[in-house]
Amino acid sequence: MQPVRRLKAYQKVLLVTVVAVVGGFIVFGVTFAGVDDARSRLLAVQEQAAPQVAVLQRLSAELTADRLEFQSAADATDAVSRTAQLQATGDTSAQATADWKIFKRHSLHLSGEDALVTHYDDTAATSKDVGRRVALAIIATPAGQLSARSADLADLLGKMESRMADVRQINEIYTTASDAGLAATMHSIDGAIRDGIIAFVTAMVVGLGIAFVSVRDTRRQELEQERKERERADDARRTAFDHRLGIGLDMVRAESDAFTVLQRALVEVVEDRPVELLIADSSMSHFRRSIAVDPEGTHGCDVATPEACPATRSGQTMVFESSTSLEACPHLAESATPLCSALCVPVATSGQPIGVIHMKGPDHEPAVPKMIDDVKIVARKAGERISALRVLADTSAQARTDPLTGLMNRRSVENRVRELVANDREYVVAYADLDHFKRLNDKHGHDAGDRALRLFAQVLADSVRPDDIPARYGGEEFLIVLPDCTVTDALQVLERVREMLAQRLGNATLPTFTASFGLAGCGENADFGEVVARADAALLTAKREGRDRIVVAEPKPSGEPDAQAPTGFGTAARPSRPGIGGIDPRPVTAIRTEAANDAAGTSDPVSPTGPRSPTRTG
Ligand code: GH3
Ligand code: MG
Ligand code: MG
Repeated sequence: MQPVRRLKAYQKVLLVTVVAVVGGFIVFGVTFAGVDDARSRLLAVQEQAAPQVAVLQRLSAELTADRLEFQSAADATDAVSRTAQLQATGDTSAQATADWKIFKRHSLHLSGEDALVTHYDDTAATSKDVGRRVALAIIATPAGQLSARSADLADLLGKMESRMADVRQINEIYTTASDAGLAATMHSIDGAIRDGIIAFVTAMVVGLGIAFVSVRDTRRQELEQERKERERADDARRTAFDHRLGIGLDMVRAESDAFTVLQRALVEVVEDRPVELLIADSSMSHFRRSIAVDPEGTHGCDVATPEACPATRSGQTMVFESSTSLEACPHLAESATPLCSALCVPVATSGQPIGVIHMKGPDHEPAVPKMIDDVKIVARKAGERISALRVLADTSAQARTDPLTGLMNRRSVENRVRELVANDREYVVAYADLDHFKRLNDKHGHDAGDRALRLFAQVLADSVRPDDIPARYGGEEFLIVLPDCTVTDALQVLERVREMLAQRLGNATLPTFTASFGLAGCGENADFGEVVARADAALLTAKREGRDRIVVAEPKPSGEPDAQAPTGFGTAARPSRPGIGGIDPRPVTAIRTEAANDAAGTSDPVSPTGPRSPTRTG
């Protein structure tokens, strides 16, 4: 039963149909054989009945003759005739007895026959004695006297009549069996066989037709069911893949890590085909090859910008059957040797395409729909995650940046210096403060003040090297941290700042202003707060000495505690200045800007684009 249960529905219907057909054939065969057997038996009866009828007819004639001969013997007038007639009677009787035996030997025992045969035999047995007496009487009695007087003769003749009647009836039974009855029976059997064949064929045709239709319908339903199950399984697999990829991507915090996860996902779905991910940066100006899986070492797509890629430009997935086909992407046609098929799936963030997944395959064997769907999942996830990471990066950049000037804010600069200290790098701090800024604000308005702050910030950003850290430290005060730099080199940087400020103010529609700077090197094991405090003190000196100048703080004598500069990041208390707190700053050495220029000489080791000074001199 187990194998039957495992059969599919259409196979079960088929099995039932086959069993029904085979069963039908068997029943038909058995019935037909039965009928045919009866038919054969009837034919045999017919064959055997015909000679029996002949025997019976002969017997009937002999009995008739025997009776007439007895009658004639009884009626004969002379003794010679009587004797001759009796002699003939004996012969005829013996002949009848022999024929009767022949008949009985070949009896077919038809219905009613046996009773008549028994009756005949009984009558014949009782006839013998009577016959003997009648024969003796005929011989002894004078002519013409017997028939009228002999009761025995009448009895004998009656018995002979009775036997003749028995033979007639038996003859009728045989005649009926061999002629009309048999013909009728045969006819009805033939009719039954014909009707049976017609019914069987009709039943088979109708049954097979119904079976064919139900097998076909069942098979169709099953195929549909199988298709739906395959689709459900595919959906479940895709959903699981989507989910796993989501988990993997959720854990990464940098685009480079996201590419590692995406690469693993692509390798899982592309079955050894070369695949790459081209992603544009935020400016969308050019593609960067972020993933390249290329087991066969074929070349990737040479498309350089999102705008040049048909898939990215249209935002549509594109499948190319062959790099030689008429509608092949131009980049594919150019770069594809040997010939290949390709799949290009755009990667988008918030509907805006930012990249493309590009997969190659054998010529005229493009990706199948399942693979296309999987690559689309990777593309969608890539777009979502890269978008989220970029938003995250923007947000944290905003948190690090002063919104008015775009420079780093106070917390960021402190973090950066913490990194410098952790890496054992030395630095110089320049503290800048715009001169009489309150006056500028009062006279020209707060907007003009803001524009002045932005211009000064831009001057700082443009004057320093990429590694330097200009920051807005608060109000109209700025900090520039210059890593791996001497105070002398830092002086040159600040001079450049002052020059560029003067120059830009000349070109701008802003009231002129100047800035004062305090400069302090970090020294050995100096706390950032302390360095800032010394730079600030130098700045106060610059203010006191007339502003628009740079003052360098005296290096801290080694081992001397700094009372005015609390240690630690972000806690540097501002030393009081004249006009602010009323407490005198620490002593500083003022360096005239002219002197700084002299010291700079002709070379500029701290130019924004120049080489970094390899050694510290201050
Ligand atoms: P000193 O030369 O001694 O530094 O004089 P000062 O006027 O520059 O210094 P003070 O501390 O008296 O005034 C600083 C002014 O800077 C006061 C404040 O209104 C202005 N200021 C601070 N932050 C901003 C800002 O974001 N925008 C504008 N427009 N002004 C600001
Ligand atoms: Mg100030
Ligand atoms: Mg000021």
